[in-house]
Amino acid sequence: MQGNFQRSILMLTLEYKAYNLLLEHEFRISRGVRSSTPIMLISIEFEGVKGFGEASMPPLYGESWETAGRFLSQVNLARFKDPFDIEAIIQYVDAIAPGNTASKASIDVALHDLIGKLTGSPTYRFLNLPGVEKIGTSKTISIDSLEVTQKRVLEAKEFPFLKVKLGTENDKAIIKAVRAVSDQPLFVDANQGWKDKSVALENIHWLNEHGVVFIEQPMPVEMKREIAWLKSESPLPLIGDESIQRLTDVVHAEDFYHGINIKLVKSTGLYEGLKMATLAKEKGMQVMLGCMSETSCLISAAFQLASLADWVDLDGNLNLKNNPYRGIEMHDGNLYNNDIPGIGLINPEEAWEKISEEETISR
Ligand code: MG
Repeated sequence: MQGNFQRSILMLTLEYKAYNLLLEHEFRISRGVRSSTPIMLISIEFEGVKGFGEASMPPLYGESWETAGRFLSQVNLARFKDPFDIEAIIQYVDAIAPGNTASKASIDVALHDLIGKLTGSPTYRFLNLPGVEKIGTSKTISIDSLEVTQKRVLEAKEFPFLKVKLGTENDKAIIKAVRAVSDQPLFVDANQGWKDKSVALENIHWLNEHGVVFIEQPMPVEMKREIAWLKSESPLPLIGDESIQRLTDVVHAEDFYHGINIKLVKSTGLYEGLKMATLAKEKGMQVMLGCMSETSCLISAAFQLASLADWVDLDGNLNLKNNPYRGIEMHDGNLYNNDIPGIGLINPEEAWEKISEEETISR
């Protein structure tokens, strides 16, 4: 039998756009300062439906537009006929090259968003997690003059927690300045800034008397023996951030920390982030959801894991000058579920079209 029988070929297509995310205020931590963050925005299309993802790449972590462009140009999604092969796709993407965790996360998030849209349900349901109607987030207070610190604290009155960046010579003065204008409970993030274990322990005892809930990454990642000692002595929970990148880091995490900070750009996305949270819970550890400076795309994606979180620090889309997306929104210090299919972005297709075409790279 002959004829012009044509079969449409279903394909997954990837598109990405470099974007410079501008911060309203300079962001300073114990290891540097910046006023913008390079990100890569991506979309994956299947049968006319698009899912959206993002790689946020603060320079300290080694990824950039160049590395992300190089990595994403190697991703050949045409090998897969079906986005529901998500496990196989994620394993394929992870095996392309080591590192590149933010770029890998962008693919993972776009696939989860796409699947949610194809099935008409929010991503947390696809992940077999319960929904959370709302959850409080901390607001990060980065390192600045004491006067500016107090101004930022007063602007953040609505938040149930403040996350104060320490790890400086001036830590006690910063906390005293915060306490002069606020009695909100505090998370403290030392960002590896304390180099001596006895000084670290003394700081923690002092902070314990000043309404601090936990300490994030007190000492440098490589000081493992000192961190293990600090954990055994600390009156406050210690949460690993820079020490805990991916699932393999959670295996022995309880030797050093009481909890872990999961960020999608470290975990390579929701698939592995969920495994990290589950393993940490099995160990009786606390789970914190964190972020970088990032758009509402990654914040909305991370919110899908909210039911597993003891602590939420998802404020990276606040104080941006050019957040292109709207999604899970914050009011009165809480993030609210919107039950939109996928990761919860509101009309991202329109936002995507408006993002400058100049730096668009299409494959
Ligand atoms: Mg941190």
